[in-house]
This record gives sequence, structure tokens and C-alpha cells, in this order.
Amino acid sequence: MAGAKRITIVGGGLAGLALGIGLRQSEVPVTILEAGHYPRHRVCGEFISGRGQATLARLKLGELLERAGAVRAQTAAFFSATKSTAPRPLPSPAICLSRFALDEALAKKFRELGGELQEGEFARGENFGEGFVRAKGRRLPSAKNDAHWFGLKIHARNIALTADLEMHVSARGYVGLCKINDGEVNVCGLFRKRAGENNESKSWRELLRGEPGSPLRQRLAAAEFMENSFCAVAGISLRPQPAAAHAEICIGDAITMIPPVTGNGMSMAFESAELAIEPLAAWSRNEKTWPEAREKIVRDCDVVFARRLAWAKWLQRIILTPALQNPLIILAARSDWFWRLAFERTR
Ligand SMILES: Cc1cc2nc3c(=O)[nH]c(=O)nc-3n(C[C@H](O)[C@H](O)[C@H](O)COP(=O)(O)OP(=O)(O)OC[C@H]3O[C@@H](n4cnc5c(N)ncnc54)[C@H](O)[C@@H]3O)c2cc1C
Repeated sequence: MAGAKRITIVGGGLAGLALGIGLRQSEVPVTILEAGHYPRHRVCGEFISGRGQATLARLKLGELLERAGAVRAQTAAFFSATKSTAPRPLPSPAICLSRFALDEALAKKFRELGGELQEGEFARGENFGEGFVRAKGRRLPSAKNDAHWFGLKIHARNIALTADLEMHVSARGYVGLCKINDGEVNVCGLFRKRAGENNESKSWRELLRGEPGSPLRQRLAAAEFMENSFCAVAGISLRPQPAAAHAEICIGDAITMIPPVTGNGMSMAFESAELAIEPLAAWSRNEKTWPEAREKIVRDCDVVFARRLAWAKWLQRIILTPALQNPLIILAARSDWFWRLAFERTR
């Protein structure tokens, strides 16, 4: 598009790449600055669930994900050390794909559409200003005592799951297992950091395998871990923030991080990217000012995500309260109403 203004996206994760692809489909000139290189593993449950799937279809990316090996998830089951649900159908199917394959496929697509992707480019700055979109993932917690959580992820083979997604909860956090591409299983956990704990006192392997005697430990008994897929992330804060709290245009986790237990973070990354396409394209064509574009994106994101974030906060809190875990699993096993509510309200 002759005379169109260029948009620079800081961060080439799911939100940044989806926005870049959407803008290129509208012929907007786009540069993405990405600190890392593709392909790369990310700490993620790799379970895409919710409205983001419709966004992917509208961006004509459904087939691309299938070609990259996406696997459909139809059932889920929950476990604690002593209670479990039988495998139950998910209210709507999800798709599972390793971030190693997904991010690389999206990066390739963005380049094919004429986007400029600069890898190994770490952008610095508090406020990037007009023409820049912040898509660089989760923010570091503002207060030290906010950062109670850390995440671990590894792929493994030789695990027989009872459902396409298994969630194992414990006093320490939870571990999700889901079937992904190439016959592998993603083993991903979120854990509470204990005060005064020496980080080396329990290896990541022990944490991800679960307590001795637990269903998780049994499930992973014969697992062959793919060591080069291991990754970890610390300093996770789960306090939700509205898009309006930021002076910049932000998408994905740069707005706020929804508790991972919902399996909705990737969906929110895709959805927020989609909400930003039209206002940013209008800015690029000189039909909107930057503050007008920001105002529209912020308002739409807050309308779309507010209820989900509020429910997710409570669901996460309940799931991570040891005394409530067994009652929750019993309720999920017996009540269709509760099962559907927990899924639908957080998506
Ligand atoms: C333990 C755990 C489990 C999860 N499980 C799931 C799940 O099962 N399902 C789900 O939907 N979501 C899940 N999520 C959430 C999901 O991973 C995120 O919501 C999603 O990755 C957000 O995408 P994003 O593009 O906003 O951020 P990211 O994917 O984090 O991408 C940000 C990008 O910005 C780059 N970057 C950072 N700083 C800079 C800089 N200064 N300059 C240039 N580039 C920069 C990074 O290298 C990265 O590529 C989970 C999260 C955690 C922690």
C-alpha cells in the first residue's frame, strides 16, 4: 500500500506474529523485533482452547496449524493424589501443538506475506511510542512478593494418557499433560515458590513427576523426557490488569497474563492481536490518530477479556487451595453444570 505508515511490533511470540500476519493481509508495512530465534521451546501447556481458534480461522491459519501437526483434544480429566474425574468431553474441542512448531510456522507465514522479521533483536525502552506495539509477553511483577510462581515444561514420549488433557493438582501447584504433535506429550507445570526454599533443593524432574504414589507419578513412570525441550520461567505474577492500565498499545501477555490453568493465554494473544488489526491499519492509512487507535484497542480488549479474567482469578485460587482441590474434583466429576461453567466462563 503506497504511503502507508510502518508498524513495528516488539515481540514475535503468538500475539506479535498473529498481529503481523493480520496487518500484512491488509498490506500494512510491518517489522517485528524478536529477541530470540525460531524455532524455540517456550514454557506453555500448548493447549489452545477457546475463541482464539475462531481468530485463527479468520486469519486463514487453520490449515497452517494442521500442516504443522496440530492434534485435536476432545476430552479432559482432573486428578489429585486421591481423587479423579473420569475422562469427560470438553465443552468445545481444543487444539494442541508444540510452540516449537507453532511459532516457527507463524514466523514463516509472516515472512511469506512480506513482513520484516528481525531475529535476535532485543528492543529496549520503557515506552516505545507512536508506531510501536508491545507484544513482548508477560511483564515482570512490580513487587517482589508478587512473584510466587514459576513454570516448567518438557516434552516426553512413552506416556499413556487416559484423556487428551490431564490436569494433576497438588499442594505445590499443578501439572498438565496433553498430547501434541509427533506422538509426544507436553508435561507443563506451574508451581508455587516456597519462602526460603533453595531452588536446587528439588530438581525440576522431581517437581514435574509429582509426589511418590500420586497418579501423576504413575503416569510418568516410564516417560522418556526430551531433554532439549526443557524450559523454565520464573517471576510469574497472576494479578490481572486491564489494557487501559498501559499507556502503550499492548497485546497478549503484555496486557496481562490469564492464569495458565484456564488454557486461554494463547487464545487471548490471538484475539487481542485480531482486535488491534483494524485500528492499526486505519492509523497506517492516516484515517486514525495513534491515541484513537489505542483507545479503540484498549476498550475492545477490556470488554472482551474482563469477565474471563475475573473468573479465571477465582478458578485459579480455588484450584490452588489444597483444602478445596478434592471437593472441586468431586464436583467436576458429578456436575455437568459445573464442568461446563468452569470451561465456558474462562473462555
Ligand atoms: C506454565 C504456563 C503454562 C501455560 N499453558 C498454556 C496453555 O496450555 N494454553 C494457553 O493458551 N496458554 C498457556 N500459557 C500462556 C501462554 O503461553 C501465553 O499466554 C502466550 O504465550 C502469550 O503470547 P505472547 O505473544 O503475548 O507472549 P510470548 O509468547 O511470551 O511472546 C513474547 C515474545 O517477545 C519476545 N521478547 C520479549 N522481550 C523482548 C524485547 N525486549 N525485544 C524483542 N523481543 C522480546 C520474546 O522472546 C517472545 O518471543 C501458559 C503459560 C505458562 C507460564
